[in-house]
Amino acid sequence: SIPLGFFGGIGAASSKGILIKGSNYLEALNSVDAVVFDKTGTLTDGIFRVAKILDSPEFTKEQVLKFAAYAENHSTHPIAVSIQKMFEEKSGNQIDENRISDIRERPGFGIQVQMDGKQILAGNARLMTEAGIAVNEVQEAGSIVYIAVDHAYAGAIVIADEAKKDSKAAVKGLRNLGIGLIAMLTGDSRRIGDKIGKELEIGETYSELLPHQKVEILERLMLENKKKNPSRKPGNVLFVGDGINDAPVLARADIGVAMGGVGSDAAIEAADIVIMNDEPSKIITAIQIARKTRKIVW
Ligand code: ADP
Ligand code: MG
Repeated sequence: SIPLGFFGGIGAASSKGILIKGSNYLEALNSVDAVVFDKTGTLTDGIFRVAKILDSPEFTKEQVLKFAAYAENHSTHPIAVSIQKMFEEKSGNQIDENRISDIRERPGFGIQVQMDGKQILAGNARLMTEAGIAVNEVQEAGSIVYIAVDHAYAGAIVIADEAKKDSKAAVKGLRNLGIGLIAMLTGDSRRIGDKIGKELEIGETYSELLPHQKVEILERLMLENKKKNPSRKPGNVLFVGDGINDAPVLARADIGVAMGGVGSDAAIEAADIVIMNDEPSKIITAIQIARKTRKIVW
């Protein structure tokens, strides 16, 4: 039978907006050695502001935004949603879906569509390089979405995403609890990854990762952790994400934690623990409750 203390712990967590899907995860929280965070939507708001639009000799800013919004119309990525909103606010127009076809979303790259018979690409430098399109690398304080029309550079959109208010306190608090490794994985550029990592004082930052590379890094960290702590049972590398391009990592981690607010339904389903209000510092609360529960149970 399950000791009463576990139910008390799960109840205490749930009253703080932390959904723990079983007493085994509460127990596992006691032996967390490493906490690995996703960036966008997890440590940052995932609500992007369009900071700047860059035009080109061929296209105006209005045209660049329009191409981007048409390309991003079907995507639910936070970058796409911000571009859609910006277009609607600035132009007052709605997207005419009949003008778009052949939509190909590329996780970790961006998106490709046909619009009025033209091919539109919207995405990062990696997408442009892959398509053989030369771009002037933009040096701005934000994530850059490059736009290409029929294989020619058309312009770019600079968008900014900021760290959540309690992200820094979360990292510091985890360190104070004795968590040895705190890391961040992101599909975003090295420039942005390093900037956020430094700001939040994260030990290790891995950038420019495709979804399957996020899994590879997590597995490497899990292996290294096992070597450092050979007597440990499994259950000690915790990953926190929102499920947009990181659902496979969420599933692979010893303890997968999803953000309940911004998180995708699939992520919430796949996770072992759900943080309802999306505050990363709730990981600290969860570990503290687990440690208290253990004292009562044993
Ligand atoms: P993170 O790992 O930080 O949560 P993602 O894996 O979701 O980030 O995205 C990685 C990168 O891929 C983004 O920073 C962006 O450059 C690019 N990207 C992904 N989807 C899109 C999209 N729909 N439009 C434009 N760029 C995108
Ligand atoms: Mg994310």
